[in-house]
Amino acid sequence: MSESNALLEAGEMIAEQLDEIYQLLFERFGPQHWWPGETQFEIITGAILTQNTNWANVEKAIANLKSAGCLTAEGLYRLDLSQLAELIRPAGYYNIKAKRLKNFINRLFDNYAGNLTNLESVDTDKLRVELLAIKGIGHETADSILLYAFNRAVFVVDAYTARVAFRHGLIEPDSDYEQLGELFQSHLPSDTKLFNEYHALLVKVGKEFCRREARCSGCPLEKLPHTPDIEYF
Ligand code: SF4
Repeated sequence: MSESNALLEAGEMIAEQLDEIYQLLFERFGPQHWWPGETQFEIITGAILTQNTNWANVEKAIANLKSAGCLTAEGLYRLDLSQLAELIRPAGYYNIKAKRLKNFINRLFDNYAGNLTNLESVDTDKLRVELLAIKGIGHETADSILLYAFNRAVFVVDAYTARVAFRHGLIEPDSDYEQLGELFQSHLPSDTKLFNEYHALLVKVGKEFCRREARCSGCPLEKLPHTPDIEYF
């Protein structure tokens, strides 16, 4: 077999594995209804606040912002840093997160007249670069914003994604964020609905079974070949 045919065959096998994983997860868990949030701005705020905390804490912070009538670009822009930090206190690391939210808002006002609609026409690669240039917004947050707030076909990678991919031999365990994202993006149809659901299902299986110490018994992916002792935090 030629090298190009072997690569093609390997790619098809990975695509089949990814499809099988998705089907098994969806059959077990059903639709996850991500991302929780009534507006595009709320989704972005949640994506920034959810770093290093659980979602219940984010919901409390978002409820505070809503009660104060500040859950809009204009509302957050007008708050001073200490007021914002106080409102988002339940989300933890509130001083740092207040700065991150302000960094995002300031960039939005400086470059896009404070209007999220002006970001809709920005090409996905450029928008990703813009988001990553904001201090405190990393790959996972940027891609969550792209996928869930702007409906762009970008696969979000997190620790759960990495664990499942490594433990199921889909990619080498030393692969980085970009390589993991590329694994999914290049072997799945470019479909925002699929990427949305797939990421949410990986989080679900990661929380319930594929933890730091894998609990394979009863996991929907148990019947697939896997190596649970690969550690990933
Ligand atoms: S818990 Fe085990 S079977 Fe489930 S995804 Fe992780 S390695 Fe696979």
